[in-house]
Amino acid sequence: MQNEHWVGAHVSAAGGIANAPLNAKKIGANAFALFTKNQRRWQSAPLCPKQIIAFKQHCYDAQINVDAILPHDSYLINLGHPDQAQLERSRDAFVDELQRCQQMGLTLLNFHPGSHLKQISIDQCLSRISESINLALDCTQGVTAVIENTAGQGSNLGHSFEQLAQIIDKVEDKSRVGICIDTCHMFAAGYDLSSREACETSFDAFDKIVGYQYLKAMHLNDSKTPLNSRVDRHHSLGAGHIGHEAFSFIMQLPATKRIPLILETIEPAIWPDEINWLRRQAKLAV
Ligand SMILES: [Zn+2]
Ligand SMILES: [Zn+2]
Repeated sequence: MQNEHWVGAHVSAAGGIANAPLNAKKIGANAFALFTKNQRRWQSAPLCPKQIIAFKQHCYDAQINVDAILPHDSYLINLGHPDQAQLERSRDAFVDELQRCQQMGLTLLNFHPGSHLKQISIDQCLSRISESINLALDCTQGVTAVIENTAGQGSNLGHSFEQLAQIIDKVEDKSRVGICIDTCHMFAAGYDLSSREACETSFDAFDKIVGYQYLKAMHLNDSKTPLNSRVDRHHSLGAGHIGHEAFSFIMQLPATKRIPLILETIEPAIWPDEINWLRRQAKLAV
């Protein structure tokens, strides 16, 4: 593929996974995110071979590289759950998510690290998350566990780069763990992105503490809430407290080439415009 920037959005898979690449194509995307099952339920029917074949065919037709697809796991999963029975339920569901990706021939699975629910310490929770990743990677193949940074709302961990580094540190197979930076979450967690200088400082901190080699995907969202609000409210690009400059900066970073760059912005009707605008920013760098 000649285009080195893989830009898209989290599209609907209603009616079956094979519809997601069709929805991506409609908005001019060459990347997309999707749920491979109902994200608010524990149980889902297994994927059938016919659906998988149709999914792959539609990706091929839309010229979407398999590595530009970023499935997202269920919101119910908490890989750092303080309660052992609940933790095991989450771990089983996470393995199922990875297996679905594996069956679909996908290489990434995006997930939120986990929450301590004020019942265990931050360190204990982070260790549980690493252990959950180790257990899941042990019984699956070919799919990288992509940890998303959080806004730090409630007891959600993974809002600081140090916490993300701490999770990765205890993962045994470093080749199959990575990070998805969500810009809205990053900003809400206290990393300023409201000017080019602020972006440089914040992304330098990421590189120093975690490292660009772990950056496997990004969620590009503006933020309705101010810096360090610890509240996760997405906005359209340029319409929130982050502003346009950050997204221009990000499109010009060498580390954002050939990774999925996914919009989770609030107005799907303008996704085609947002995608085009992002692509133009990448060209400005050349
Ligand atoms: Zn996100
Ligand atoms: Zn969010």
